[in-house]
Amino acid sequence: MPRTSDHPDSATPSQAAPVVELRQLRKSFGDLEVLKGIDLAVRPGEHVVLFGPSGSGKSTVLRSINLLEPPTSGSLRFDGVEYGPGIPGEPQAAERGRPIDLRRNIGMVFQQFNLFPHLTALENVALPLRSVRGCKRPQAEHQAAEALRRVGLLERAAHYPRQLSGGQQQRVAIARALALDPQVMLFDEPTSALDPELVGGVLATMRELAETGMTMLIVTHELGFAREIGDLNVFMEDGQVVETGDREIYAGPTNPRTSAFLSAVL
Ligand code: ADP
Ligand code: MG
Repeated sequence: MPRTSDHPDSATPSQAAPVVELRQLRKSFGDLEVLKGIDLAVRPGEHVVLFGPSGSGKSTVLRSINLLEPPTSGSLRFDGVEYGPGIPGEPQAAERGRPIDLRRNIGMVFQQFNLFPHLTALENVALPLRSVRGCKRPQAEHQAAEALRRVGLLERAAHYPRQLSGGQQQRVAIARALALDPQVMLFDEPTSALDPELVGGVLATMRELAETGMTMLIVTHELGFAREIGDLNVFMEDGQVVETGDREIYAGPTNPRTSAFLSAVL
């Protein structure tokens, strides 16, 4: 996929084969086309930020990547395997991957953290290890504790969601995704539901995760954070990628639509 600027840090694997690659991805709901041919590549270890106005299709992009919304047409490759219906006029892929194999390699964190209120932090993180991965309880709890340690909440393992702040609950949700050892983590406005004083803790956890080399695709309105973390920054509007760039995009966008959006929000 074309890049409008070189990667700022030559040590990062910007030339490696993409782990997620969308080409000409389209999605319609009835007569409404909400993704109008998205091209996007996420390479191993890269931190990609998607930003743009409400309704531009950012969540639909994330939901398409793990097939929560099956694309109408286009190519969706994960780790080189085709999961999309294909690009009109191009030869069909010989084989299509199974959604279950795609999803097991993708962790997703939403605005609403959706923890079970009657389970402790540890049990919330251990549950998918048992139900999705088939781990036995001791193994699941061991891995869940390790994931809680990574988000700095091991000492809260026995707390119930109501005993945790919203920011801590979101970090438990991050641990729940991390515990499944995904290749890529998708974040859809992970701090939008939080009181302002709780945003920083969640962003700090995400920053630490980024520093471990986790591949991340993040939808966020926290553009200060985006500027700090985004190796590739993608501005979307009206179901299309308008502009992509490195961190300079926030200070000096080249497209007037990106400029208009940034000057309205910054
Ligand atoms: P964003 O995350 O950028 O705010 P979305 O991806 O949520 O945008 O939505 C893009 C467009 O798709 C919006 O017009 C929204 O109303 C529409 N849309 C999203 N999901 C559905 C759905 N399940 N059915 C119909 N329209 C939808
Ligand atoms: Mg959204």
